[in-house]
Amino acid sequence: MKTTNYIENIIIGAGPGGLACAAHLARNGRKVLVLERKDSIGPKVCAGGITWSGLLRHVPESLLEGSFCAQYVHTNLQHIRVHEQDPIIATINRATLGKWMAKTAENAGAAILTGTRAHTITPDHIIVFTPKEKNRAIAYTNLIGADGSTSIVRKFLEIPVNNIGTGINYMVAGHCSKMEWHLDTRLFGSGYGWIFPHKDVISIGAFCDRHNLSAADLKQRLLQWAARQGYDLSGEKAKAALVNSDFQGCFFNNTYLVGDAAGLASGLTGEGIYPAIVSGEAVAKKILDPGYAALEIEAMVRKQRQHRTVVNLSAKHPLICSFLMEWLVLLLRLKIIDFHTLEMAG
Ligand SMILES: Cc1cc2nc3c(=O)[nH]c(=O)nc-3n(C[C@H](O)[C@H](O)[C@H](O)COP(=O)(O)OP(=O)(O)OC[C@H]3O[C@@H](n4cnc5c(N)ncnc54)[C@H](O)[C@@H]3O)c2cc1C
Repeated sequence: MKTTNYIENIIIGAGPGGLACAAHLARNGRKVLVLERKDSIGPKVCAGGITWSGLLRHVPESLLEGSFCAQYVHTNLQHIRVHEQDPIIATINRATLGKWMAKTAENAGAAILTGTRAHTITPDHIIVFTPKEKNRAIAYTNLIGADGSTSIVRKFLEIPVNNIGTGINYMVAGHCSKMEWHLDTRLFGSGYGWIFPHKDVISIGAFCDRHNLSAADLKQRLLQWAARQGYDLSGEKAKAALVNSDFQGCFFNNTYLVGDAAGLASGLTGEGIYPAIVSGEAVAKKILDPGYAALEIEAMVRKQRQHRTVVNLSAKHPLICSFLMEWLVLLLRLKIIDFHTLEMAG
C-alpha cells in the first residue's frame, strides 16, 4: 500500500450531494477531492423530476428536458389535474445535471477523479482503487460520504439503514405531454407509478417502501400497470436502485453524510435530488464554520418524518392506505394543500 498524499477534504461520490458540497467548499478556498467510481459523472437510475420550490429555480432552463404547469394525479377513485401558473415540476437528464454540476465544482477549484472507487475507510485515510493503481492511500482531515444509498462511509460509521425504498425505472423512446402520478394502492401500497415526459424519452417507473413489496413484485406490478396505460415494457430494460430515507444525522466529528448516504430522501415520494444538494451545501457550511446551525436540514427532516408517518400508517392495513391516498388527493383537489406540501423543500 502506498500513502501518496494528503487532501484536506475528501468527498466520496460525485452525485448531486457530493458535487454541491465540493463546489461550496472550493468556492470558499478549501482543497477538495471528489472520488467517483463510475467512469463518467451523472448517469443514475432516476426519473429526473425536479420541483419548483426545490431545485427548479437553481438550474439553468436550458438544461431542462421539459417543465410542467399541470400534474395529472390518479387514485383508485379520483382522477385530477392540478394546474398552477409556474411549472410545478420539470424533468432533467441526470447526465446533463451531473456534467453541469461537475463543471461548476471544477470551475470553483475542486478536483474530481472518475473511475476511482473508495474501497476501505479508516479514521484518517482511505484506500482507493484507480484504473492504474490498487490500494492507494489518501490521508484526510474531513471525509464526506456522498456515496448514495449503499454508502460505505455510513457503514464505516456503523449506522444501519432500516427505512429504504425501491425505485424501478424504464427510459422508453417516445414522446408524451402529460406528467402523471398513479397512486394505485392495490398495486403499490403507499408508493406510486409515474409517467414523466423527457424530450425524446419517457420515464416510466414505480417506487415503494421495501417493507411493502419486494423488488421482483414491484417490477411485476409495474409491468402490469404500464400495460394498462398503453406501454408494453416487456422488451425494455429496467433499472432499479434503492432510495435511503433513514436519517440518523449528517455530522459525526470529522466524518459527514449527505443526500442518500445520510438517508434524506422522502420515503413517500422517493424525491432525493434536492435533499442531496441542500445537505451537501449544509455540510460544506458546517466544515467552514463548525458553529453553523444547519436549520435547513432540520426543516427537511421534519418534512421527511411527516412522509414517514403516512408510509407507516399505510402499512397497517390496505384500507387505511387507500383512505390516506384518497384523502391526500382530495385535499389537493380542494386546494387545501398544494403540490409543494408533498415536496421535500421546507
Ligand atoms: C428509480 C428512481 C427514480 C428516482 N426519481 C427521482 C426523481 O424524479 N426526483 C428526485 O429528486 N429523486 C429521484 N430519485 C432519487 C435520487 O436519484 C437520489 O435521491 C439522488 O440521486 C441522491 O443523490 P446523492 O448525491 O445523495 O447520491 P447519488 O446520486 O446516488 O450519487 C452517489 C455517487 O456516489 C458514487 N459512489 C458510490 N459508492 C462509491 C465508492 N465506494 N467510491 C466512489 N464513488 C462511489 C456513485 O457512483 C454515485 O455517482 C429516484 C431514485 C430512483 C431509484
